[in-house]
Amino acid sequence: MSWPDPAGDGTPAAGAPHDATTGWHADAQAVAIKSGRIVFVGADTGAERWRGPNTRVIDARGATVLPGLVDAHTHVANLGEALSRVNLVGIETEAEAIAKVVERAASVPKGQWIVGYGWDEGAWANRYPDMGALSERVPDHPVYLKGLHSFAGWGNRLAFERAGITATTPAPNGGEIRRDASGKPSGILVNNAVALIERAIPTPTPDELDARVLAGLEAMTQAGYVAVHEAGADSTLMPSFERLSKTNRLPLRVYAMVAARDTAFTRRWVSRGPDTTCAAMLCVRSVKAFYDGALGSRGAKLLADYADRPGHRGIGGRQYGFDEALMSELAKAGFQITIHAIGDAANRAALDFFDRVNARGERHRIEHAQILHPDDISRFAALDVVASMQPSHAVEDMAWAEERVGPERIKGGYAWRSLRRAGARLVFNSDLPGTDYDIFYGLHSALTRTDKTRRPAGGWYPDQRVTPEEAVRGFTTWAAYAGFDEREGGTIAVGRRADLTLLDRDPFTVAPDSLLGGRVMATVAGGRVIFERR
Ligand SMILES: [Zn+2]
Repeated sequence: MSWPDPAGDGTPAAGAPHDATTGWHADAQAVAIKSGRIVFVGADTGAERWRGPNTRVIDARGATVLPGLVDAHTHVANLGEALSRVNLVGIETEAEAIAKVVERAASVPKGQWIVGYGWDEGAWANRYPDMGALSERVPDHPVYLKGLHSFAGWGNRLAFERAGITATTPAPNGGEIRRDASGKPSGILVNNAVALIERAIPTPTPDELDARVLAGLEAMTQAGYVAVHEAGADSTLMPSFERLSKTNRLPLRVYAMVAARDTAFTRRWVSRGPDTTCAAMLCVRSVKAFYDGALGSRGAKLLADYADRPGHRGIGGRQYGFDEALMSELAKAGFQITIHAIGDAANRAALDFFDRVNARGERHRIEHAQILHPDDISRFAALDVVASMQPSHAVEDMAWAEERVGPERIKGGYAWRSLRRAGARLVFNSDLPGTDYDIFYGLHSALTRTDKTRRPAGGWYPDQRVTPEEAVRGFTTWAAYAGFDEREGGTIAVGRRADLTLLDRDPFTVAPDSLLGGRVMATVAGGRVIFERR
């Protein structure tokens, strides 16, 4: 991937291993690595010359070797938390759910909370369980099992005790405490009442948090990633990354953005300044702020009314916690400013802000850049702002996005091709754990604009699709650029850090329809094999 970028319409550059008649072809057979660096890229015979008595030789068996993948927008602690919960998705009966909790309880010290997720409160609505059997089978752990749609929660007796929910506890506004005939809580909380129990669950200890973060990162190594850009680390999460980095426990590189919502914490970074070398596994030179909310819940800030709610334009800016003065200070101190902006008004305001701080070359970013006014698309290139976007969001939002903004504004929605044509720098990522971070799903979404069932036929606003090269660059070379790492990572070339991802199929040559179901075969970060499929 060390050849030049494709043109704005996706046409490969002159130096690309691409032929107008035969398409893409691999540009090397072998890579040699020494002391964490790439020392050779080329033919098998050439690589043989680097083989010594202690060399480990990995036969890729025809796998496709790409530069190590980067997910440039993640929430790995949340992923770790999700992975640590008892998984009840797809469970059909109370007995099955309890069996899963009993199994977990065997490995959790008595008295510690067990949290589960995913029983279907919609499907179970006419036969809600109570705390009886759950409390009998799991008496020594407080247990809280959250519903699939987050509008019901199920707990055992100890959990209700710890939360102090009794027969006399009033239900909060918009919530319900289910009760038995005698008026005692039955074990089920509905809507806003789930907060009564959720706030009783202790925040994780530093060790527990570290374990969660590591579980999230470990999952990322298995998914082929060599680096993540963590989109918001606050005064709790950042110290976890720092502990893991200091004790050499980070399995992959973490480019952590300071969470601007934690204002006091963020202020401390103004004087501390950014880490401009990024020599360690943890690099902090970016700050993540929010300008508006999400489109689905109509929280995104629009220039005109929502198409499906006249009189409403969402909220954004100071009302949403965006502290322009603090962000300006951080920009002056040399931080990359990253702004979550979804609606066209939020994107315009974020671009206006970048225009005012006038810091071209600082690689400031807009996260999501979801709905753009046509007049603003060319400003990304003009202001040198990176558009950081999630291919999966397009195919997951397409069911309702057009209802929110109508047929005209949707043309500037998830507008990857329009941005590329206008010369903008793009980067792709997952925003996990909200969506599936499987690279093949990300590439599939970017190339086809269809969902996992391959609908709609032909793709949703297919003019905005990107080419395989652009999609792969979004997760490699362009992601490296967005994290100031393009001299070290992002391409496979002599002298670069040895970051590689091995895939069982070649995204450049397989039909886009054949990407889903692809498998990561190995992940190599800094010359270390951090994942290998057996
Ligand atoms: Zn996010």
